[in-house]
Amino acid sequence: MTTRLLVTGGAGFIGSHYVRTLLGPGGPPDVLVTVLDALTYAGNRANLDPIRDDPRCVFVRGDICDAPLVDRVMAGQDQVVHFAAESHVDRSLLDASAFVRTNVQGTQTLLDAALRHGAAPFVQVSTDEVYGSLEHGSWSEDEPLRPNSPYSASKASADLLALAQHVSHGLDVRITRCSNNYGPYQFPEKLIPRFVTLLMDGRKVPLYGDGLHVRDWLHVDDHVRGIEAVRTRGRAGRVYNIGGGTALSNRELVGLLLEACEAGWDSVEYVEDRKGHDRRYAVDSGRIGRELGFAPATDLSAGLAATVAWYRAHRSWWEPLLAHRALPA
Ligand code: NAD
Repeated sequence: MTTRLLVTGGAGFIGSHYVRTLLGPGGPPDVLVTVLDALTYAGNRANLDPIRDDPRCVFVRGDICDAPLVDRVMAGQDQVVHFAAESHVDRSLLDASAFVRTNVQGTQTLLDAALRHGAAPFVQVSTDEVYGSLEHGSWSEDEPLRPNSPYSASKASADLLALAQHVSHGLDVRITRCSNNYGPYQFPEKLIPRFVTLLMDGRKVPLYGDGLHVRDWLHVDDHVRGIEAVRTRGRAGRVYNIGGGTALSNRELVGLLLEACEAGWDSVEYVEDRKGHDRRYAVDSGRIGRELGFAPATDLSAGLAATVAWYRAHRSWWEPLLAHRALPA
């Protein structure tokens, strides 16, 4: 039976990887995708070029906060995977309003339309950042939410609204909370593509504070496989953490990037720390492993090498985006 799938934010980094994977070789048969994306600075039609002529994909340019449009697009959809978001922590520190609008109001607009039209499961793609910072151990899905940035607070709000839609109205909502992603087509404002493209231009890279903030890294391929496991085999009202099991300090990560780009530590300048910078994130991904048999497959050093090679070969993709590599003052 054909599944009609609405993918919001499908022109962004992870959403486009999801759509390309779904419609690529080995993807599920009989799936029809509608991408709903506002094409903000972070959205890019070129991210969907590999499947541009695929008749199984329809692209709608539009805002998830536009309730009449969302209602029209949702009609006839069977399921939803919701990626659309304002996604950059640093931008949320400069102005949080777009984060509240898109991540909170936009998510509720989609949840209401999904309920009206019976589109479920509704997969809410969230982040490990909703748990806040922790010194030791790792977060399970039952951990209380203690977000510290406007970005993570807006994602936590969206998660709570999604769970409320499940409890109050019985909508089959499933939430994924993933660690930091890397891979091709990531907008060059985020750490890995920003540093790689700066190094490729022979420029210095800015490292926040003492560089000892710890993050878990997951290749975007693994993230989209995890989301697909949750969409197809997950349980209603359940949260699933997705992590790579590869914790690195930012200093360690930068060391790997310098090596891959054949640059030295003289290319690094330490800059004032980000406000409220969470010290350490670590997710416990046991549940998705036990219940859905999911495990990440991409080795970090191989994944990073392939990512750096992709940016080296795709200057024509990232060069036009460089105006956004650093934030507006
Ligand atoms: P991205 O910024 O690359 O893409 C976001 C997409 O959403 C863009 O195509 C943009 O045009 C679209 N969008 C923004 N506002 C919109 C609106 N109002 N209406 C319609 N479309 C809109 O983000 P990403 O890195 O691909 O992240 C996708 C999702 O995954 C987000 O929800 C994010 O919170 C989550 N996530 C990201 C990471 C990561 O490391 N990047 C990790 C965990 C979870």
